[in-house]
Amino acid sequence: MSHTAEIIAVGTELLLGNIVNTNAQDISQALSAVGVNVFWHTVVGDNPSRLREALEIARKRADIIITTGGLGPTYDDLTKQTICETFGKPLVFYPEILESIRYFFEHKAHIPMPENNRPQAEFPADCVIFDNPVGTAPGCAFESDGVHVLMMPGPPFEMLTMLRRHVVPYLRGLSSEVILSHDIMTFGLGESPMEELMREEISRMENPSLATYAKPSEVRLRATAKAATAEEAERMLAPVVEKTVAFLGDVVYGVDVEGLEHTCFQLLKDRGLTMATAESCTGGRIAERMTALAGVSSVYRGGVVSYWTSVKQDVLGVPTETLERFGAVSPETARAMAEGACRVTGADIAVSVTGVAGPDPDERGTEVGIVYIGLATPSGTFCRSLDLGKRRRDRIQDLATNHAFDVVRRYLTGLPVETWRR
Ligand code: ATP
Ligand code: MG
Repeated sequence: MSHTAEIIAVGTELLLGNIVNTNAQDISQALSAVGVNVFWHTVVGDNPSRLREALEIARKRADIIITTGGLGPTYDDLTKQTICETFGKPLVFYPEILESIRYFFEHKAHIPMPENNRPQAEFPADCVIFDNPVGTAPGCAFESDGVHVLMMPGPPFEMLTMLRRHVVPYLRGLSSEVILSHDIMTFGLGESPMEELMREEISRMENPSLATYAKPSEVRLRATAKAATAEEAERMLAPVVEKTVAFLGDVVYGVDVEGLEHTCFQLLKDRGLTMATAESCTGGRIAERMTALAGVSSVYRGGVVSYWTSVKQDVLGVPTETLERFGAVSPETARAMAEGACRVTGADIAVSVTGVAGPDPDERGTEVGIVYIGLATPSGTFCRSLDLGKRRRDRIQDLATNHAFDVVRRYLTGLPVETWRR
């Protein structure tokens, strides 16, 4: 039987627009991965009667209700009490939970436990308690007339930890089916061309199913299988993943990898090569994404954000003549920047970006969206020329960053780097 869930985020701050309801997004993603259909997102303030109203509605239309927020010790944290009233459950005091909260305060937060924390150790009778190793408010779950009610704290890091450790296993336990998926990560084809290419496959397949998800400037294809066991689900998925990867060809940069930079990191490690960056219009985004990866110092030497022409000249050694003749936004400058980055860092390869992110054309009249990606390598220097069109500045910067990683990935896998569309 498939389950139907409603997520209720509790917090007046959410309604005032002071914070964004990221918890609902994270919970929805986790639930879709375990095959639970989320049909409603509700947001309600720290107000018991309106929360009660929301719960009454939710229990009629969903068989899983997940709340976040309002589990803290302050006067406005009323989620547990209100849920208990709505579902006719008494609140029971758990001395051992109070002790673990006291332990958290004394050993992790290094302060004595405030006395108003006692309500955090009260839970609905006959519930499963979800411990909270990164905060004080534990969560819990109970079942009442076929409806499962799960409560989690509001702070996103605490919520995410509990979601992974407790809520996902709890929900998996409700179903006799196992749901597994694999993500085929692509770059280079837009969402519509991808959908067009895959439409028949996507509409034909049910189990495993295929779906596309567009991240900014990338498309993820998710293959999902439902089966009695994980082994069986994997057996069903393997041929689908293999066939889809083969069909899509070199736009696929990985399966179950998080991003292009992860693939580049792995390829650089496998090849024993080091890399450097020289960035103009991306302002360090490539460097930022590289350095977010733990252990990347084994392959990433460093980068220069050469925004001014004088920095391109003096730090990267781009010849004055190149800059004067072709301009700062040109294939020649992109190549010279990449070569300069190799020279100053001693890296084996370097990728460079120079372009016009907008909103206005540059002083030579080069249009917004014109971007050049240079790549200096032991086997020569390359340049990919792009016209990304008139888009938002940050979109151009993100897209150019992905192209830079794509150029590196394609070089390291022996594919042509200058042309990229299939
Ligand atoms: P605490 O013990 O911190 O009081 P709590 O479970 O009572 O935890 P809230 O008081 O509702 O949670 O929220 C605490 C903080 O968590 C909020 O100030 C906000 O920063 C964040 N938060 C709450 N709900 C959400 C949400 N739905 N999405 C993102 N952040 C949230
Ligand atoms: Mg609170």
